[in-house]
Amino acid sequence: MFEEYCSRCGECCRHYAGIPVTKKDVKRWKKNGRKDILEKLVVLEEDFVMEGGIRLFDKGDRLIETGEDKYCTFLNREERVCSIYEERPEVCRKFPLTPSGTLWIYPESCTVGKRIKGLYD
Ligand code: SF4
Ligand code: SF4
Repeated sequence: MFEEYCSRCGECCRHYAGIPVTKKDVKRWKKNGRKDILEKLVVLEEDFVMEGGIRLFDKGDRLIETGEDKYCTFLNREERVCSIYEERPEVCRKFPLTPSGTLWIYPESCTVGKRIKGLYD
């Protein structure tokens, strides 16, 4: 979605807690035999994660693990592209929109977020 406006900065692939996945994502990866992805999932142990005044994740949510640099483990660091693009989680397909279709908090470098905000203004 909105890929033509993406500068591939990779910043949407960075979060200190991890990248959220849905039950639907997990079901699809099981069906498609993507053990390599399933092995990289972690369960949130904190009670919750807040960002910008919004409660993002809750205890027990499943997330894709991030590296020491806080980028998703599936981000190709050299080329700044997703190494599981065809299988990426729903949240990544919709970014910078939330599952309900509103504009998510987006990084300063996000040309897509700026473009969409421009459409909203
Ligand atoms: S799954 Fe792909 S698109 Fe989603 S955060 Fe990880 S590298 Fe980025
Ligand atoms: S933050 Fe925005 S511009 Fe950067 S890679 Fe993600 S969608 Fe593209």
